[in-house]
Amino acid sequence: MIHDQSVARSRMVAEQLEEAGIDDRRVLHVMREVPRHVFVPKLLRHRAYHGCALPIGYDQTISQPFIVGLMSALLELDGTQHVLEVGTGSGYQAAILSRLARSVVTAERVEPLALRASKILEELGCANVEVYASDASDAVPERGPYDAIIVTACADKLPSPLFHHLREGGVLVIPIGQGEQQTLYRYRKTAAEPIIERSVACRFVPLLTGVVRKENHA
Ligand code: SAH
Repeated sequence: MIHDQSVARSRMVAEQLEEAGIDDRRVLHVMREVPRHVFVPKLLRHRAYHGCALPIGYDQTISQPFIVGLMSALLELDGTQHVLEVGTGSGYQAAILSRLARSVVTAERVEPLALRASKILEELGCANVEVYASDASDAVPERGPYDAIIVTACADKLPSPLFHHLREGGVLVIPIGQGEQQTLYRYRKTAAEPIIERSVACRFVPLLTGVVRKENHA
């Protein structure tokens, strides 16, 4: 049951990723395999393979498939890397990363989302993913250094504690901007100044501070 809808996924990959120019074979393969619908609320499952972000509760969203594919490709993973994701949300991006990298640490500031994602990832057998309920822009999980970092919420500038936990030679992919004016960036850490590359315009929920515990949420 959990692995059905493969036709919808193949179509999603062909129409939303390949046609838009994403050509990383490993990313395309994994996105054909991982069931997106199990990360989407039941009432919205009929839209799980549409080309849009969807609400997952707590004012948060699961990113649109194109953005998940693009960010995954920008990380240049070959299966050997130790990756940090900031913003677990539904856990879908973490499930994709788990098949592209050696290991994944993912942090989510909304504890109930972290718990839900952790359960789904376990059910899917993503044994190389560790989920933390924490504000990772401040308290970065001490499991680094990381070979690659992906931030799936928008910051107004590069959070320096995150860059600090990136290994030299590694890349950090992050949306930067405000409101509707956001751009996806890739920072490559070098011995000298970072190499900064601009990707596409995008729209993410904001990177926020503090942790939302279960009992604090109305
Ligand atoms: N990658 C997710 C999409 C997440 S949306 C997916 O595949 O579904 C962004 C998430 O970032 C939200 O769940 C939000 O609560 C979380 N977030 C925002 N600021 C954060 C922070 N400082 N630390 C950890 N998570 C954060």
